[in-house]
Amino acid sequence: MGDLNGLPSLAKVVAAHDLAAKKSLGQNFLLDLNLTEKIARQAGDLSQCDVLEVGPGPGGLTRGLLLHGARRVLAVEKDPRCLAALGEIAAVSGGRLQVVEGDALDVDVRALLTPPIKVVANLPYNVGTELLVRWLDPGPRDEDWPPFWSSLTLMFQREVAERIIAQPGGKAYGRLAILSQWRSTPRIVMSLPPEAFTPAPKVHSAVVHFDRLDEPRFPAPSKVLFRVVAMAFNQRRKMLRAALKGAAPDIEDRLIAAGIAPTQRAEQVSLEQFCALARTLAP
Ligand code: SAM
Repeated sequence: MGDLNGLPSLAKVVAAHDLAAKKSLGQNFLLDLNLTEKIARQAGDLSQCDVLEVGPGPGGLTRGLLLHGARRVLAVEKDPRCLAALGEIAAVSGGRLQVVEGDALDVDVRALLTPPIKVVANLPYNVGTELLVRWLDPGPRDEDWPPFWSSLTLMFQREVAERIIAQPGGKAYGRLAILSQWRSTPRIVMSLPPEAFTPAPKVHSAVVHFDRLDEPRFPAPSKVLFRVVAMAFNQRRKMLRAALKGAAPDIEDRLIAAGIAPTQRAEQVSLEQFCALARTLAP
């Protein structure tokens, strides 16, 4: 058996397997192993964890995760062209890498993983936000939390990362900030320029690390919270007494009870205040 350090460079792998990047699959590859190991390190100690990687592509981050000592890596890749290259990594991984061909939006990964589980991925931009929302909101029943993962370490476009960590008072603050910060602690841990990727995308990227909170930061019924936040930000320029008119006939009283002035706009309302409002609106 060979070893991970004896594998060819990622540039050679891409050439040997003819992995010309496809835009439709959001393919912007990381070919610098120092960089991929650095990303893997942002997830902390992996030696006692199973890692879910979405979109391994030619396997740069996959190698980084294995070299960083992951107990096991489950890599879900949609592009069948990448499977042979990933097979070469699996062959020298000491049984630590399992590759599944499929769409990460469909594969039931829970059945294939043993807790504790960390998610680490250089996500395809076209499905990144959808996956994040699913991981942060596994269902309308509050018993669905805590989720199957203990942390997420994910690459996003810088602009999306800014929306995830945004605080009240700015344009970036919205549903994604509320959803992310209610049940986890997101922080930007790395910034990457376009040239870090092949091919270079138009925008800058950032890695966000989320540690899950076992209990939400403030109590609130999730279904009501997400509904009221969606209504508030769908008409973010309107005062809340107008934007939330459909939420309850006495919405002004409920806003006041939650400590929110009815003339405020969504982007001025803190997560704590949204949670208080969701509690007053709970059936
Ligand atoms: N992880 C590799 C790296 O860092 O070089 C590749 C990252 S590239 C931004 C995104 C990868 O996700 C591609 O390999 C692409 O084929 C894959 N992908 C795109 N959509 C996917 C989906 N729905 N499910 C699983 N993989 C997907």
